[in-house]
Amino acid sequence: MRILLLLFFAFAGFAAHAQEDEKCENALAILDADFEGARMSSCEATRKNFIVRIDPENKPINPSPWYAFRVTPKQTGDLKIIIRYSDAKHRYWPKRSSDVRNWRPIDPNRIRERRRGKRVTMRLAMETDPFIIAGQELLLTGGYENWSGNIAEKANLNLQTIGESVEGRPIRALMSAPQTQGPEKEFVLFVGRQHPPELTGAFAMLPFLETVFGDTALAQKFRARFHIIAVPLMNPDGVANGHWRHNMNGVDLNRDWGPFTQPETQAVKKLLDDIDADENSQFRLMLDFHSTNRNVFYTQSNDEVTNPPGFTLNWFAGANERLKGYEYEHALRPHSDLATSKNYIFGRFGAPGITYELGDHTDRTLIRTSAKIFAEEMMETLLEGGSAE
Ligand SMILES: [Zn+2]
Repeated sequence: MRILLLLFFAFAGFAAHAQEDEKCENALAILDADFEGARMSSCEATRKNFIVRIDPENKPINPSPWYAFRVTPKQTGDLKIIIRYSDAKHRYWPKRSSDVRNWRPIDPNRIRERRRGKRVTMRLAMETDPFIIAGQELLLTGGYENWSGNIAEKANLNLQTIGESVEGRPIRALMSAPQTQGPEKEFVLFVGRQHPPELTGAFAMLPFLETVFGDTALAQKFRARFHIIAVPLMNPDGVANGHWRHNMNGVDLNRDWGPFTQPETQAVKKLLDDIDADENSQFRLMLDFHSTNRNVFYTQSNDEVTNPPGFTLNWFAGANERLKGYEYEHALRPHSDLATSKNYIFGRFGAPGITYELGDHTDRTLIRTSAKIFAEEMMETLLEGGSAE
């Protein structure tokens, strides 16, 4: 028994050591995951191919198998990479970029799904430059910092650190308050990126916020009445570490609105407590941006009266008149015990709490143009509702 144990530890030690030092390399190329947002759980180089295993950060977990790794060619020509998923089926269509700005989806003729999506084979054309293969475009913590800094300066917003993630990254909020305040304060909250791979949600949220913080007459009128809080990146650790879904404690943040066991959700809860503690404050709306297999809004059911009443249907009616080519489902989900942002906001404030989901594959331009329309119609609808004057 003792010898067996020794052998086991010797082998385990060797394996760990080998994985740290060994580059995943053959005569054709080198693969690595040495950058922010990367996920390549293990990699094996054979003479002609690479086999990449993709595991989640912990289990159980909802299926959102994120991957991102770099290929450094040693030759020109085709390279075959096989992705193996341990706990999910292929979801994110592979995209390629040499500069982490411009991305193009891999040609469908070069992708093959096998074993019901548990295995994906891609044949990549290599030139001389290194490139990244990822499940979606990368929008990392630095990208949010730049974007937030720019918009805060342009729209004169207060960019505040409201808390820290498990690994000590700042949780940042963009805040806007009316210059002249009436007796009643009305609040709206926008949150995003609780789930790291849900990039299309971010691709809607950023133009949505740019519209709300823009300089149109409508946006100015909206900001003259409403207090706005936006937390575009709720799970910076998950993004930085290439997680499928959870934070560094292995918790799904959008199942923690209620328990609030995690620093990332606690940071937002503190803001909500302050609003609740002020008897002159009213909470009006929360939108939470995500991605799934289609465009869908999860809302309260039609017989759950929100305050403001009828917001959701009026909002959609306004948007529907203007949307071109953007189709979405309105999914009514009655209040439940599931500790999502949507349920928490409606349960605590009676305000509409809406999950704004974009399809993983929805056209990026359409995401942007429709998000601007939804932002404008959101502002129109709330401005029409019971005035705070
Ligand atoms: Zn999500």
